[in-house]
Amino acid sequence: MKALCWYGKYDVRIEQVPDPEILNPRDAIIKITTSAICGSDLHLYDGYIPTMVKGDILGHEFMGEVVDIGKGITNLKIGDRVVVPFTIACGKCFFCQRGLWSSCDNSNPNSHIAEAVYGFSPSGLFGYSHMLGGYAGGQAEYVRVPYADVGATKIPEGLPDEKVLFLSDIFPTGYMAAENCNIQRGDTVAVWGCGPVGQFAIKSAYLLGAERVIAIDDNPDRLRMAAEDGKACTINFDDEDIYEKLKHTTGGLGPDSCIDAVGLEAHGTSLDAIYDQAKAALMLATDRPHALRQAIHSCRKGGTVSVPGVYGAFLDKFPFGAAFAKGLTFKMGQTHVHKYMQPLLEMIQLDQIDPSFVITHRVSLDDAPEAYKTFKAQKDNCIKVVLKPGQPAASSNGNGHGRAH
Ligand SMILES: [Zn+2]
Ligand SMILES: [Zn+2]
Repeated sequence: MKALCWYGKYDVRIEQVPDPEILNPRDAIIKITTSAICGSDLHLYDGYIPTMVKGDILGHEFMGEVVDIGKGITNLKIGDRVVVPFTIACGKCFFCQRGLWSSCDNSNPNSHIAEAVYGFSPSGLFGYSHMLGGYAGGQAEYVRVPYADVGATKIPEGLPDEKVLFLSDIFPTGYMAAENCNIQRGDTVAVWGCGPVGQFAIKSAYLLGAERVIAIDDNPDRLRMAAEDGKACTINFDDEDIYEKLKHTTGGLGPDSCIDAVGLEAHGTSLDAIYDQAKAALMLATDRPHALRQAIHSCRKGGTVSVPGVYGAFLDKFPFGAAFAKGLTFKMGQTHVHKYMQPLLEMIQLDQIDPSFVITHRVSLDDAPEAYKTFKAQKDNCIKVVLKPGQPAASSNGNGHGRAH
């Protein structure tokens, strides 16, 4: 099959690789119909994530058709159309049983690496380094899905791929970020970062009853999407003092909750840096927690700071005193995707949200290496790229990017 393989910093290639096979009774093989490039894939592309091996297949946002199942699976059949969570979870361990799916104790065969850094390992992830399991990802024609009986969610007929694909990651991630704010009637929610996760956090905050959402970024395309699709008030941090502006627009109180959807540029995974790469982590930490510091500083007393953005290791100059003085609540962590698949699918079916609004680029899998470049550079108003394995490359059919906005 064809797959997008990682070879090092800024080096991803489409290659022919062996087709995946059933290895365990609860595996399924999925023929990918649509996948996506995620902001957290850029950490791999930028070479920040340790324990990558040349030839690793990337991609953790994907969906498709079941073409093979292991003997242990009774709730899926060949031909089913499914979306798969980016977190891999067994469904049976202490954590899965408590709905803490991204903490699954059984899905990371390389957990000892993460334990050395964090004390305990999070779940395995698709296409995201060997310390998170070394699972092949879904920017490919086929993928093996472990524990498919609890992960893969069947999609009813009539819903196009683009409406449901983001159940795999960014919609639940944005939704959990908003849910973590415990939004009350009349609340103002401020969202730092208007990438795809920020966009879903904005929509979700309104779905959960926020009176007003204020979106903060400096990318005009993202701010436009936040205003037009998300109905958020927007602040460009190049033009205004965020703290002053937020205070002014909330009658001097500050926002009731603040969502940091910046992190390492995206929602990503929890292992962007490990202990023996502390130097790299600290280098990142010099500017990246800026949004988080600002959120803590700006949040009203007794408010909530919710962090879907990724923080890998150590934060420099973390204003813990301000958080203590104001009695803030912190909520964060890798998304428990499995928990949200069904309820968010129902919202899509009820037309409460159409997640495809975030797509700006549609390209063939063959053109994925070029799409990484475009996405990385935020060129051509790029916010979200979806990949279609079945489509011919732009170079062969003469078509450019299919633009949605
Ligand atoms: Zn993602
Ligand atoms: Zn588990």
